[in-house]
Amino acid sequence: MEKNVYFFGAGKTDGNQSMKEELGGKGANLAEMANLGINVPPGFTISTKACELFYESNKTLPLNVLEEIHQNLEQLESSMGKKLGDINDPLLVSVRSGAAISMPGMMDTVLNLGLNDTTIQALIQKSNNPRFAYDAYRRLLQMFGDVVMNVSHTKFEHALTKLKETKGVKYDTELNSDDLKSLIESYKQIIKETTGKDFPQEPIEQLNMAVSAVFSSWNNNRAISYRRINKIHGLKGTAVNVQSMVFGNMGESSGTGVCFTRDPSTGAKVFYGEYLMNAQGEDVVAGTRTPQPLDTLNNVMTNCYQELTAIMDKLEKHYTDMQDMEFTIQEGKLYILQTRTGKRTAHAAVKIAVDMEQEGLINKETAILRVQPDQLDQLLHKQLDAVAKQEAEIVAKGLPASPGAAVGQVVFNADDAKKWADEGKIVILVRTETSPEDIEGMHAAQGILTSRGGMTSHAAVVARGMGKCCVAGCDDVLIKENERFMQVADLKINEGDWITLDGSTGEVINGKMPVVDPELKSEFKTLMSWADEVKTLIVRTNADTPYDSKVARDFGAEGIGLCRTEHMFFEGDRIKAVREMILSKDLDGRKNALAKLKPMQKNDFKGLFEVMSGHPVVIRLLDPPLHEFLPKEDEDIKTMATEMNIEVNKIKDLIKSLHEFNPMLGFRGCRLAVRYPEIGEMQAQAILEAAVEAKQQGHDAQPWIEVPLIGDVKEFTLVKDIIENVANGLNLERGRDYQIGTMIEVPRAALTADEIAKETDFMSFGTNDLTQMGCGFSRDDSGKFLSEYVEKGIYAVDPFQSIDQQGIGELMKICVNKARSIKPDIHIGICGEHAGEPVSVEFCHKIGLNDVSCSPYRVPIARLAAAHAVIKGK
Ligand code: PEP
Ligand code: MG
Repeated sequence: MEKNVYFFGAGKTDGNQSMKEELGGKGANLAEMANLGINVPPGFTISTKACELFYESNKTLPLNVLEEIHQNLEQLESSMGKKLGDINDPLLVSVRSGAAISMPGMMDTVLNLGLNDTTIQALIQKSNNPRFAYDAYRRLLQMFGDVVMNVSHTKFEHALTKLKETKGVKYDTELNSDDLKSLIESYKQIIKETTGKDFPQEPIEQLNMAVSAVFSSWNNNRAISYRRINKIHGLKGTAVNVQSMVFGNMGESSGTGVCFTRDPSTGAKVFYGEYLMNAQGEDVVAGTRTPQPLDTLNNVMTNCYQELTAIMDKLEKHYTDMQDMEFTIQEGKLYILQTRTGKRTAHAAVKIAVDMEQEGLINKETAILRVQPDQLDQLLHKQLDAVAKQEAEIVAKGLPASPGAAVGQVVFNADDAKKWADEGKIVILVRTETSPEDIEGMHAAQGILTSRGGMTSHAAVVARGMGKCCVAGCDDVLIKENERFMQVADLKINEGDWITLDGSTGEVINGKMPVVDPELKSEFKTLMSWADEVKTLIVRTNADTPYDSKVARDFGAEGIGLCRTEHMFFEGDRIKAVREMILSKDLDGRKNALAKLKPMQKNDFKGLFEVMSGHPVVIRLLDPPLHEFLPKEDEDIKTMATEMNIEVNKIKDLIKSLHEFNPMLGFRGCRLAVRYPEIGEMQAQAILEAAVEAKQQGHDAQPWIEVPLIGDVKEFTLVKDIIENVANGLNLERGRDYQIGTMIEVPRAALTADEIAKETDFMSFGTNDLTQMGCGFSRDDSGKFLSEYVEKGIYAVDPFQSIDQQGIGELMKICVNKARSIKPDIHIGICGEHAGEPVSVEFCHKIGLNDVSCSPYRVPIARLAAAHAVIKGK
């Protein structure tokens, strides 16, 4: 017959560590500890298979499972020398859930099960401590009522608070045994009134009900949402652990605590933890008494401390990872109630991984896998102080567009951001959405908040590039830029008021919060060097300035994978020349204006070649629609008219004429160079001349010129001819001195990649546009509804955050296969925002891309993710 219940305890243990799937994490570890001879209170685990059977039997425990439970109970009774419900010496047990992956949201714990109006007397006699016994019983009523009989926890809390008020005391510990006795009656009354049923006095009925409640909680709404949000699939159900009770509150030689085998916040190799004497587990977390640091246990109960630290050492070596354990001391005897892999900060994760490799506990690959790439954000950006954040007044939530934390005074336009910052103030720039004109203000601000736009909106992309915290698409906030305030529900936040942003969670917090500066320790460098040894993907950066390129280079970028040339058009005087070009009526006028731009562009490119000497620099030709370079506000239009000596109305007419209903599908990308070849020509000259000069000055300049937004190979060849002409004039040889490639952003380009590959040296997926056009979601507007799409499970994640592998990923695969069928060695990369997101990086590795290019601050994340991809793929 199939086994559904597994015993654990000294002398006989059915399970082991490898049986997480059947026994859940907690059950498998209890079994393993018992196997190792560690003193765990004996008990048994009802398997996840039994949970499955429970659901198949219409949410009842099938007879064979019940039978096995009772057999194991008998075994437990004989090993403990006590019986459940015995009126002289009752066995008491705890019932706990435990899935293969720990899962908040499910029923957690019922303690002291087996107590009733009769057995309580035995406990009083045995312990010689009525207060302790009544306290145990009232805790059972509270937990059982709450988690098994669905009586709101607050009803019990309310009764407890009322009693304390009547008695004029502050803490539970100040209630005497008579008080607790009366509380037991109130709790029973609450259960009866709420459910119409009495608290079950029969211990075996308590046990059956508690086990059923744990199984039922597997499919409550909270647990289902938790699994969906955390992408936990394929688990059968939860297991249930029934374990004999040990008491840490049986007097001063008893106690309970939690401990970690290393410091979970710094990673230091020290025994870490806290405990309370004469207390139960919940007292440690309740905060009514201050727990003591673990090392002081050495003075209080030396033997127990020595035994505990020896077990900690043994378990860490056994599991080869930092353990988080719970222990109880009952009348001088130490029991380990639980061990599991300890959660840790990013700093600790890196330090522990590197230390453990150096201690010979794990190898380099395991060390690499021990740090999640996303965790590195914590090391690279300012973070909110974790303790202070618990008190934060979170007023709104938007998209976590660019990680880190920022605190500042609110301003509502870029000029003010700059002005206030120049005056020494620290500011947060709040805009409905940002545009290239806001760049300087964005630079000056500590962080950026927008109410519109998604994960690839201007604000998100630019902020990530700057390594600056950004919350985007926060439509809980109504922004009145002209009136200089914003409204969040009833709260009005005026210019100058302080707010705090958490760009890693998308939270907007009212007021000033303390932040912690990032700090890179030597272990970080060690771990990253190991990642580089393993990874095969090249990691480049999206950067437009020598400064950003330098930051990226220091973070390990191997070249620039995307330089968006238009970002350079907004700096200083050059916007004037750009506008002059747009205003020009004829070719000569445009050429004149372009001639003014060329030296500036050339200088920019030279800077990039210098910083990235020895690595390719992919420079993309002008991409955005021209209207983006014209002012929007009346005041700015007037300034432009004065500066350029033109009538205001003429500018307004021009803006009108450039207006498009769908600018993202309009006159942009290679279409600009197709219609105005002189733009492409000027940019090609600037790039190639800069490369020649950089080379003359000793830098190994490697220009890769990139044509954006093509849909058909003929668009590409047209622009390519322009570039080749320029190159020929400079005696440069394609392939040797420079390369010409294209972005793959239009689905049609992906589908015709074989034709395109014949003409191009390299390709790079622009997955921002490819997602926009492939899924049909506006990258700037879909933030408003995409979160609901994710909540409702239509998309597992926002496709602008992580590649939609089923759809867009399929297009990418087709493209790679078609291109490589023509040119097996063609270099294919990705430079959309997905290139810095670990799951997408892994996908890119799997489909055989050569490089990923992401914003500077994401370079380490991409390097680590690329190494993970190799190790996981083995
Ligand atoms: C893209 O579309 O993915 C891309 C990198 O280009 P941009 O974001 O500049 O449109
Ligand atoms: Mg694009």
